[in-house]
Amino acid sequence: MTPAPAPAPHELSHNHRLRDLQQLLPADRWESSASALAAFQSDGLTAFAVQPLAIVTPQTVDEVVQVVRWCHQHKVPFVARGSGTSLSGGSLPHADGIVIALNRLNRIVRLDLPNRLAVVEPGVINSKLTAAVEHAGLYYAPDPSSQQVCTIGGNIAFNSGGAHCLKYGMTSNHILAMKVVLADGAVIEVGCEGGEQIGPDVLGLMVGSEGLLGIAVEITVKLLPKPESFHTVLAGYGDLQTAGAAVAKIIGSGLLPAAMEIMDRLSMQAATAAVGAKYPANAEAVLIVELDGSCEAVAAERGLLDQLLEESGASQVIVAASAAERAKIWKGRKSVFSAVGRLSPDFIVQDGVVPRSKLGFALTQIEQLSQEAGIKVANVFHAGDGNLHPLIMFDGRQPGELHRAEELAARIVQVCIDLGGSITGEHGVGMEKRQFLSGMFSDDSIHCMRRIRLACDPHEVANRGKMFPDAEAPALSMYGLHPLEKQGVISRM
Ligand SMILES: Cc1cc2nc3c(=O)[nH]c(=O)nc-3n(C[C@H](O)[C@H](O)[C@H](O)COP(=O)(O)OP(=O)(O)OC[C@H]3O[C@@H](n4cnc5c(N)ncnc54)[C@H](O)[C@@H]3O)c2cc1C
Repeated sequence: MTPAPAPAPHELSHNHRLRDLQQLLPADRWESSASALAAFQSDGLTAFAVQPLAIVTPQTVDEVVQVVRWCHQHKVPFVARGSGTSLSGGSLPHADGIVIALNRLNRIVRLDLPNRLAVVEPGVINSKLTAAVEHAGLYYAPDPSSQQVCTIGGNIAFNSGGAHCLKYGMTSNHILAMKVVLADGAVIEVGCEGGEQIGPDVLGLMVGSEGLLGIAVEITVKLLPKPESFHTVLAGYGDLQTAGAAVAKIIGSGLLPAAMEIMDRLSMQAATAAVGAKYPANAEAVLIVELDGSCEAVAAERGLLDQLLEESGASQVIVAASAAERAKIWKGRKSVFSAVGRLSPDFIVQDGVVPRSKLGFALTQIEQLSQEAGIKVANVFHAGDGNLHPLIMFDGRQPGELHRAEELAARIVQVCIDLGGSITGEHGVGMEKRQFLSGMFSDDSIHCMRRIRLACDPHEVANRGKMFPDAEAPALSMYGLHPLEKQGVISRM
């Protein structure tokens, strides 16, 4: 019999590490089989795939602490993971690290309905929190389109937004307190239920830190009373730019709708194919506007909105006449990201921000760049916030297509920077936008962020390689090749 080949030195150290980790927790808390690892090798940005050493699924805060301490002690990178819907590669694993999947930490710890707050574990699904309190006429306001699957922990890490964040604010506006396991295993409590901050805003620092400082293990969130009344309209336009100009006009009038979303023709086609959504015939773009609040307030604002839409050049305005019709409009809008899969085998969801007043110009620029590149781009976005989501369609099976799509994505990010906007509105920097950080911040500012990171995580084990332009990465951002990729450590799907 031929003797088995001796394991390569790196395999030896991997095996040692795994045995060590195995002893920390009950057997059912960790997985290292090829099939288990395959399910965690990518997040919503499937252009990247990295196989981690193991998956750990803690059931208690204490188990999270033990694993994080072990990682700190052995300098093993880890990435916290909720549902893995990140569109910026934020929950992509590190090849020498482990994934700490928080899906078993999914309990609603306490509901305090009189004080309108809930204490939850990080693996609670966003929409399930609302489902748990709606009997009391309350809801959790941040509503990413992925809310049926994404977790509160992931929402915090990216300070996620959603259609209704125009009026109600991002995740950061709804978090009162948190218990966090820092990257060195220390457990801290930040913020307070009463909402009155003492000392520096460490809670604010944690929200949006992309899993680089530690793991949120218990979160106190605000609940809001469900609005008494809604008025939802869908206005059709002959072109995207006119729809964009309507947004600036509505905001300029002093109205603050709960949501203002734009979809272009390709997005409408995708939503129609996926969920049977209906849109005005011949419209090149639609604008969804929703007013909410007390019956009196909505009735008072309705007239002004009608007038503004009429003046804005809308070809047709459809008013949702019932809760069911309103739900249909939102179902169409929220289905678009996944529905675009019906139009194209692969796509990149770009996430940049421009000042609202420059929306029309930015959309023209994107159209021009798309034509120059010969690549189709669908647009669906949080128009009220100036938060663009161009969906860049390509076929990754064709040689060079991914690279061309990435180049176009990079040009669009640059347009946002040049117009005085931001490289990300809500999807985070993650892997995807690392090299653009320096387009927005000075070296000193980035250095300051890094010093904060190092104070919490001296070995940079928490989500190593993400966000900072020069961090040792599991893969370079999509816009170029990383040495590890050339060595075959990283595969692109
Ligand atoms: C179809 C679709 C629609 C989407 N629509 C929106 C939208 O409207 N608005 C929006 O903002 N985003 C949207 N997203 C992006 C994504 O859903 C959000 O970023 C979401 O918050 C990620 O949650 P998750 O549970 O999937 O987190 P993951 O993808 O698992 O993780 C995201 C990041 O959070 C970190 N993390 C996870 N849990 C913790 C924790 N407990 N403590 C510390 N760090 C943690 C991870 O390390 C990673 O960096 C969409 C995605 C898809 C696929």
